[in-house]
Amino acid sequence: MTRPKVAFYWCASCGGCEEAVIDLGGDLLKVTEAVDIVLWPAVLDFKRKNVEALGEGEIAVSFINGSVRLEEQEEIAKLLRRKSQLVVAFGSCAHMGGIPGLGNFWTRDTIFQRVYKEVPTVENPEGITPQETTSIDTGKITLPEFYDTVKTLDQTIPVDYYLPGCPPPPDLIMNAVNAILKGELPEKGAVLAPNKILCDTCPRAEERQEKISIKEIKRPHEIKLSPWKCFLEQGIICLGPATRSGCGERCIKANMPCMGCMGPIDGVTDQRAEALSQIASLLGVGEEVGMTEEEVEKLFDGIVDPVGTFYRFSLPASLLTRERME
Ligand code: SF4
Ligand code: SF4
Repeated sequence: MTRPKVAFYWCASCGGCEEAVIDLGGDLLKVTEAVDIVLWPAVLDFKRKNVEALGEGEIAVSFINGSVRLEEQEEIAKLLRRKSQLVVAFGSCAHMGGIPGLGNFWTRDTIFQRVYKEVPTVENPEGITPQETTSIDTGKITLPEFYDTVKTLDQTIPVDYYLPGCPPPPDLIMNAVNAILKGELPEKGAVLAPNKILCDTCPRAEERQEKISIKEIKRPHEIKLSPWKCFLEQGIICLGPATRSGCGERCIKANMPCMGCMGPIDGVTDQRAEALSQIASLLGVGEEVGMTEEEVEKLFDGIVDPVGTFYRFSLPASLLTRERME
């Protein structure tokens, strides 16, 4: 019997999404028995030419993690799109731009300046930065272009499904694999995780006050965190009210607030705007017992790192997409 062909590929990625596949443990053996892997650069030695030799649509599904920063990543994503019936954006970086997407607050030149010339541990008296073409005695060597802007996968190629999370949790990965193998996938474009917010599944929501009263916003290391109280009630920004559930409350259980890696629920285009509006409504803006808009604004002004707090995983997919800081 012919087994469906499957590809895994990483673009601008930390490798955590690859680790998440390994974390399937015994289930990974079931997956590898059911499919024929044709590309997985982190694990197997297939080459680009092996994929190029496949027919159009011959791969049943390609799981692509990481955002798109380099010319080579764009080329392979386009190649896999041509060769695949389905493409799944795997993890926050492919889904929304992720942590590498925070690079969109700078340009290629300012990033190179900082990384290759200014960082205290760098010794580079000649100020050499990576070049796309370099001549050496035996000819020319090339590097892929480093793009000015980080893109999500669906800003590069059409994407069929999204597996959210940083990285996606094993049960969501297995659910997706089983749905693909059984042909029981939802409508194209779906995010393969529950369409409800994290507060709906968070154990700390049960005891939470209807209207939250806080005087100051703190960072997690600045106070002794309660292991059971809602983070917002402790003055810690938690993106649970604006973030999709399905992560198994991994951060909450480790006594850290939600940072938003699962992205927003359906219909929300900008997770930051949604988070601000949801948190402001929990603070009771405009209501008799709540805070005034000015008080909430002042409270939010006290957030030390608004970009890292609200755009940690989603800047390229947000309404802002990018900003230039220089
Ligand atoms: S989604 Fe998270 S784990 Fe996956 S590549 Fe991006 S940063 Fe790494
Ligand atoms: S805001 Fe955070 S800690 Fe509070 S209930 Fe929602 S997810 Fe849980």
